[in-house]
Amino acid sequence: MIGAADPVRRNNYGLGMDNATSRDTPGIGHRQMFIGGSWVDALDGGRFVTVNPATGAEIGSVPRGRAADVDRAVAAARNAFDSGRWGQSVAERDRARVLFRMADLVRERRDDLARLEVLDCGKPIGDAEADIDEVAFMFEYYAGWATKIMGDIPPVGPDAMSLVVKEPVGVCGLIVPWNYPMLMAAQKVAPALAAGCTVVLKPAEQTPLSALVMAEIAAEAGVPDAVFNVVTGVGVEAGEPMLTDPRVDKISFTGSLAVGRHIQRTCADDLKRVTLELGGKSPNIVFADAPMPEAVSGSCLGVFGNQGEVCSAGSRVLVQRSIHDEFVAAMVAETEAIRLGSGLDRSVTMGPLVSAAQMERVNGFIDSAPADGARLVHAGRRPDDPVLAGGFFVPPMIFAVDDQRPRIAREEIFGPVMTVIPFDDEAEAIRLAHDTEYGLAAAIWTTDISRAMRTARALRAGVVWVNDSQPAPSEAMWGGYKQSGVGRELGPYALDAYLESKQIYINLGG
Ligand code: NAD
Repeated sequence: MIGAADPVRRNNYGLGMDNATSRDTPGIGHRQMFIGGSWVDALDGGRFVTVNPATGAEIGSVPRGRAADVDRAVAAARNAFDSGRWGQSVAERDRARVLFRMADLVRERRDDLARLEVLDCGKPIGDAEADIDEVAFMFEYYAGWATKIMGDIPPVGPDAMSLVVKEPVGVCGLIVPWNYPMLMAAQKVAPALAAGCTVVLKPAEQTPLSALVMAEIAAEAGVPDAVFNVVTGVGVEAGEPMLTDPRVDKISFTGSLAVGRHIQRTCADDLKRVTLELGGKSPNIVFADAPMPEAVSGSCLGVFGNQGEVCSAGSRVLVQRSIHDEFVAAMVAETEAIRLGSGLDRSVTMGPLVSAAQMERVNGFIDSAPADGARLVHAGRRPDDPVLAGGFFVPPMIFAVDDQRPRIAREEIFGPVMTVIPFDDEAEAIRLAHDTEYGLAAAIWTTDISRAMRTARALRAGVVWVNDSQPAPSEAMWGGYKQSGVGRELGPYALDAYLESKQIYINLGG
């Protein structure tokens, strides 16, 4: 029965998160994944560990799902969809009630979930709490939409009637990254469930834990068995099989441009529906008449927030030449106040990067920048607490360049590295902003409303902030121009990604 809670299916009782401090890593033991309404291991028994990026210590392990496990999960989701036990045969208000309950359960477990997210991906606890609050709101928001998905009656003359109805697209493979683990998952799961789809969620291998708690919450809220499945595993083993499985109708992916391209190509074989939310190298344009000090703090937040591991990071800071030196000095002062450490310490404002591999990748950009023509303006310091010696910390860095030829001015770094570029006038700012394959986001700082609107209209980016950086309200819209993506998420726009339209034509006997 829809809405029946079954607490027996909880897998993650006693996470031990209440006692988590910045100095220790509570073990969460060996977890299982959720397929067909049951907690299971990988069929071949494989597992992988997940670590606390602040210390490098192991937190626990999860199953290493592979093709056979994906096959099981897709079969369960297909069967659940075809049986109609969540989509066609269920009253929309019953689906809504379950999603509202999911929102309540996320709120009840907010503190545990936030600490789990910090331990898995490193971000400061206040940021993790904000993520979890938004996850709860996201389920509430799409619960509201479940009862408001409507069709159309286009006019087709007096002798017939045409109905355009909306139906769930089917089985959805949802593949998410590690920078906002639960939020990125909710951004896909909530609209997919509201639309009546069944899902197989694959969290990133670096951050699998909160997706497992989401499965627990879904089961407890009354999502029927096999409607919501989670397969943990690495990309090519647990993500790839979904791309080629004909029983999967839709892939929604958030991640890198390289993998996004591969997904688009692979899914072309059977014309799966595809939504892609990819990377960026977003411009943050500061005009000489920018509001101060908001432009300074907003520009820094835009690059250093979430350790720079943000798809929409304003990592190219374009500053009008007349205020360039003064503005850079103000940003250096702002950056000096950033405090690195364990995300569980409430005084910390920047945590470690998610993994050793990510730290090495970002350090590669930093090390090669001077030889590539970039001038180091500011370098922060790693934390000196010996407990954090094995952590994956990269301190905030600011580089100045004359043009956008250096690699750090062109490529997505996904770490706390700011590149400052001068411009002379509005036309040059727009030209520089456009000089990238990406088009995810842009920020404009000015007190001239005409300039703000002109520039916002001219920029080829899916999201443009004026006198702000990074807000992404769930009720609005998200998605990229150019190679930053295909399709849109958030707001009512996300629902389209999980719906098909069907025209029913009725001859009235004319
Ligand atoms: P990634 O592409 O390496 O991995 C993302 C997900 O895809 C992971 O779950 C991974 O396991 C899976 N994957 C990898 N190879 C796969 C394959 N062959 N088939 C199927 N799945 C596969 O990206 P990442 O390093 O985890 O995340 C960082 C990237 O995500 C950045 O480029 C960032 O800009 C982007 N991102 C975009 C948005 C957005 O909304 N546009 C939001 C967050 C992150």
